[in-house]
Amino acid sequence: MLSLTRQIFLATKFKMAVNFETDVQYLKGVGPKLGSVFAKRGVYTVGDLLEWYPRTYEDRRGAKTISSLEPGQLVSLVAQVVNVRSMNLGKSRRKMYEILLGDSSGRIACKYFRVPYRGYFERVEAGMKVRVSGKVTDYRGRIEFHHPDVHPHREDENEEDVLIPIYTETEGLTPAKLRKIIETALIELDKTEKGFASGASQETEWKKSPKSQAEVLPKWLRDKYQLPTKMQSLSQIHQPPVQQSDLFLSFTSPAQRRLIFEEFFRLEFLMAFRKKGLEKEESVRVQADEKLKAKFLKSLPFELTGAQIRAYEEIKKDMSLPHPMHRLVQGDVGSGKTMVAFLSALYAIEAGFQAALMVPTEILAEQHFKNAVKLLQPMGIEPVLLTGSMKAKERALLNHRVSTGEAQFIVGTHALIQDSVNYHNLGLVVIDEQHRFGVAQRTQLKKKGVSPHFLVMTATPIPRTLAMTVYGDLDVSIINEMPKGRQPIVTRKAFSNKKVQVFNFLEAQLEKGRQAYVVYPLVEESDKMDLQDATKAFAKIGERFPKYSVALLHGKMKPDEKEKVMKEFRAGQHHILVATTVIEVGVDVPNANIMVIENAERFGLSQLHQLRGRVGRGEHKSFCVLLYGHAVSDESRARGDIMEKTNDGFKIAEADLELRGPGEFLGRRQSGLAGFKMANLIRDIETLKQARDAAFEVFEKDPDLKEHQQLKSLIRSLEFLG
Ligand code: ADP
Ligand code: MG
Repeated sequence: MLSLTRQIFLATKFKMAVNFETDVQYLKGVGPKLGSVFAKRGVYTVGDLLEWYPRTYEDRRGAKTISSLEPGQLVSLVAQVVNVRSMNLGKSRRKMYEILLGDSSGRIACKYFRVPYRGYFERVEAGMKVRVSGKVTDYRGRIEFHHPDVHPHREDENEEDVLIPIYTETEGLTPAKLRKIIETALIELDKTEKGFASGASQETEWKKSPKSQAEVLPKWLRDKYQLPTKMQSLSQIHQPPVQQSDLFLSFTSPAQRRLIFEEFFRLEFLMAFRKKGLEKEESVRVQADEKLKAKFLKSLPFELTGAQIRAYEEIKKDMSLPHPMHRLVQGDVGSGKTMVAFLSALYAIEAGFQAALMVPTEILAEQHFKNAVKLLQPMGIEPVLLTGSMKAKERALLNHRVSTGEAQFIVGTHALIQDSVNYHNLGLVVIDEQHRFGVAQRTQLKKKGVSPHFLVMTATPIPRTLAMTVYGDLDVSIINEMPKGRQPIVTRKAFSNKKVQVFNFLEAQLEKGRQAYVVYPLVEESDKMDLQDATKAFAKIGERFPKYSVALLHGKMKPDEKEKVMKEFRAGQHHILVATTVIEVGVDVPNANIMVIENAERFGLSQLHQLRGRVGRGEHKSFCVLLYGHAVSDESRARGDIMEKTNDGFKIAEADLELRGPGEFLGRRQSGLAGFKMANLIRDIETLKQARDAAFEVFEKDPDLKEHQQLKSLIRSLEFLG
C-alpha cells in the first residue's frame, strides 16, 4: 500500500481514483482524526471500510407504537425518554442500566448489562425524543428491549428510507457520519469503475478496476450458485434495495448470501487445498495379513461393536494407500476408541512398522501404556512409555530402543515428537483426545524424515455440520454405537442443601463395592468466587466417610504423584477420588459408577458431558449428580436440564452450540472459525454446504489452480491460520 503522503501527492497530481486499497483517510470527510478512530476498529483501507458490515437493519416500514409491539419483532420507533438509571445486580458489583421509554400508548424498558461505550447513557436524558431499534424481548410476561440501539432523534432523518443499516456503535463516530462516509466510498469506487469501463484508464499505480480487484469468486462459480458480484453485494449491503427489505432482515438477500458464501468459501478452500495436498504426499504403504488381529480379538473379554469394526476397516484401507491417512475417529465418551487405536497399531506393527500413540496428559499416557502391556505384550509386541517427566537417563535408554526399532508401540505425551526422539520406521501416529494435530507437529515429524499415517481420535462431539468446517481437511469415521450392556447414566440436579442426601446415596454405592468421583472446579480457593476448595473438601469428605479411603487428585500435583493416586484408584485401593477437571479426559475405571460434580454451574455443557463420561463404563448402573450452589443463572440451569435429559454427546453438542452461539462454542477450538463477519454457523448452514462443495469442485476441475490465479492468493492469506 502507498503511504498517505504519496497517495495525496498522486491524488492531487493525477486526480487519483479511489480503489479498494486506498487509505480511508483519503476519503472525503475522513482525515487523520477519524482515520485513527477507524484504525482502532482495524479499518485502514476503503476495502476494510466496506467490510464493516451493518449489524442489523432498522425497519421503518409502518409507524409503530409501544403498545403494538410483539415479542420477537425487530423494530425501530421514535419515543420519549422517561428516565435513565443504573442499578446493582443482586449483591455483586455488576451494574445494569435502564433507559425507560414512553409514547402515548405505553412504556417499555431498554436494559443494558454492560455499557456499549463510554458516554453512551450520557447522550440521552428525560424528555428527549429518541429512536430505538432492536428486538422486542419477552421477560416474565412483559416486553422489553435488551441492548437496543438508542440515539437522539434527528428532525432531518429521512423518513422515506425504509431499511437503515445499523453499525456497531463506536466512540467518536456517529452512525449518520459512518453511513455518509460509506456512501462516499461507494460513489468514488463507482466513478473509478466507470473510468475503466470507458477505456479512459486512470492515471494510477493500480491497473485493476475496483470490480475485478474485489472479486475472488470465479464467474462460473457465481453463475452456478447464483451469486451477485462482490462489488454489487458490498454496495447493497450498505444500501439495501427497498424491494428486498424482508430478505435483508432475514439475512437471505442475494447480497448477504454472496458475502456469507465467500466467508465460508475462503475457509473451505483452504481445507480443500490441504486435503488435496495430502493426497499428493507420499507415505509408507501398510499391508499385513492380520494374523495378530484374530489372536488379539480372542484375548478380549468382549466382542467389538459394529461401529468399531467399521472404523478399523476404514483405517486399514487408508493405510494401505501410498499417501498419508488423515482420519478422525469421532466417538462419544466410552464408545471404545482405544480398541480401534490398538487394532490399527497392531496392523501397522504386523506390517513391520512402529506405531505411536500420543495423548495430552501423563495420566492418560500411563493408562494406555498399562493397557498395552496387558493386551499387546502377550502378542509379542514391545510397548514403551515416553513422557516429559522422565529422568534423562531413562529417556536416553528408551530413545535408544525407539531408534533401533526394538520398541514397537510407543505411548506418550508430546515428548513423542521431540527432537531427541528418532524413530526406526514409524508407520502410524494415533493422537487421542486432541481436537487437532497441528500442521506444525506434522512438519516436525516430517523433518525426522518420516511421513506416517495419522489417526486423530476425539470424544468431543461436534454437530455434524460443524465437523465439516472444524475437521474439514480430515476424513471422518464415526463410532455411533456403544458397547453392549451399557446402561444410560442417570443424571440428577440437586442444590447443595441436599448434599447430605447425595452423600448418603454415594455411600450406598460404596457399600456395594463401587467407587466414586467427587469433582470440584478449582484447586485453590479464590477470593473472587465462593468456590469450594478441593483440598478443603477432601478433608471434609475424609471425615464424612471414615470407613473408606479417599484420595485427592489435582492439576498442581507432580506427575508421579498424580500417577500414583490414579494407579491406586484403578486398583481399588481408594474408594473416593476427589478431583479437579484433570480427570476430564480419557480416564477409564469401569468400577467407578457415581460422580458428584460440585458447583456444576461453573462448568460448560461439553465439559460436564466429558466429566460424566468417567462413569458408566462398566456393567454397573451409574449415576451423576450435579450439585448447584446459589445464584444459578437460567443458562446453567438449562445446561443441567439437558444433562438430565440425554446421554448423547451429539445432542449435547448441538444444544451447547445453541446456548452459546458458534463464536464461543468454537472459540477455544479454532480461532479462524470464530472470526466470521457476517456468516453464522447455525443460520447459514445451507450456504456452508454449498461453499464447501464449491471449494472442492474448484480442485476437481483445476488441481493446480492454473485457471484460477486469483484463488491462489487465498491460500497465501489463509495459511498462517494453521
Ligand atoms: P473412549 O471411546 O471414551 O476412549 P474407551 O476406549 O476408554 O472409551 O473404552 C471404554 C470402556 O469400554 C473400556 O473399559 C473398554 O475396555 C470397554 N470397551 C471397549 N470396547 C468394548 C466393546 N466392544 N464391548 C464392551 N466393552 C468395550
Ligand atoms: Mg479414550
